[in-house]
Amino acid sequence: MIVTRFAPSPTGTLHVGNIRTALHNWMWARRQGGRFLLRIDDTDRARSEERFVESIRADLHWLGLVPDGEERQSARFDRYEARFAELKAAGRVYPAYESAQELELKRKILLGRGLPPIYDRAALALGEDERAALEAEGRTPHWRFRLGGDALDWDDLIRGPQHFAAAAMSDPVVRRADGSWLYLLPSVIDDIDMGITHVVRGEDHVSNTALQIDMFRALGAAPPAFAHEALLTGSEGKLSKRLGSLGVDHFREAGIEPEAVVALLARIGTSQPVEPLVDRAPLVAGFDFAHFGRAPARFDEAELAGVNARIVHQLPYDAVRERLPAGIGAEAWDAIRPNLERVADAAEWWGVIEGPVAATADPADRDFLIQAAAIAESIDWSADPWHALTGALKDASGRKGKPLFLPLRRALTGRDHGPDMAALARLIGRDRAIERLRAAG
Ligand code: GLU
Repeated sequence: MIVTRFAPSPTGTLHVGNIRTALHNWMWARRQGGRFLLRIDDTDRARSEERFVESIRADLHWLGLVPDGEERQSARFDRYEARFAELKAAGRVYPAYESAQELELKRKILLGRGLPPIYDRAALALGEDERAALEAEGRTPHWRFRLGGDALDWDDLIRGPQHFAAAAMSDPVVRRADGSWLYLLPSVIDDIDMGITHVVRGEDHVSNTALQIDMFRALGAAPPAFAHEALLTGSEGKLSKRLGSLGVDHFREAGIEPEAVVALLARIGTSQPVEPLVDRAPLVAGFDFAHFGRAPARFDEAELAGVNARIVHQLPYDAVRERLPAGIGAEAWDAIRPNLERVADAAEWWGVIEGPVAATADPADRDFLIQAAAIAESIDWSADPWHALTGALKDASGRKGKPLFLPLRRALTGRDHGPDMAALARLIGRDRAIERLRAAG
């Protein structure tokens, strides 16, 4: 059974980069008939806030990425304690007493000598007496994980074979002097306990993965598969600050449909084209880490708006009826839909149908419009009034093409462009049409 997890820290709302990670975890689980978990990484109690937990859940719900289960790190401290005790007994975690200033000094000395700033494991060499002496001085230790001597390798599902030498890395700090947890170890304990088979996350975690692979082994578990995605960049090609502020609230306010977000984020950064799919099943069916490239994925808001418009054009009436102004029926929706960029813009066209419309006619068209009003009174409005009207007007006025159609569109809608007039004319109806033609003429 495939199990993935999306593991945000509830220290803010989700942004487009997190949403993309959540989506890919969801897609992979769906594709494989597996489970997708939401794991709230709230070990940092000072920075985690309940309102962000709620907004994360609500955002996933809006996006249709509903988790099959939810876990919270803050409910699992006992478990971390127990596994930490095992690592301690096995000598895989050790207390270290250096202050931040002392560590900084060590770094500077190494860098000054042209050496990599790797922690020297001085704390590992301390004897029982020395530790006792430091503690008597009032020092409380933080805890480091002792890396094994092995090569820390994995075959990344996106990046291919990865190699890190444990000897070239510092033993990571896993627990602070106040007993609080850093991200690395609890995440591994959770991934083991929750049976996570695939860790899908941003490539900013690549070096963490090397460390975590050693932690999986130290805890007697086989590491899961890893897929590290290239990060998102803005349309200008740079890592942009703006991306960090773009989330579901922004999309919703901009009239972006969840399916547009999904269709775009499923495919940018992959070899597959972005397609305006209203149905996510084909996206899921075709999802494969092998399609992901190593180059950053470009997120362009204008592209999202374009995908959104093409999705809106396909949305069936039943999918939108609750969001439409009262009175709009399926026929009106079908007529208006091709002209919309956002569902909310339907209100504007509904206003055009219902009126009043402010139409101004060219003085040269006045007689023509009076003629049109007279014909509008005589034709049958039950079938295809637009063709009946324009056919009769063409014969009566000798006009054709734009001089025939544009003054009518202007008089009936107050605009030069818009939905198909055959559909609009039916929706505007006989009485309103005659009144508008007369008023303009
Ligand atoms: N809370 C971590 C983050 O948001 C989770 C990383 C992971 O997926 O393991 O970066």
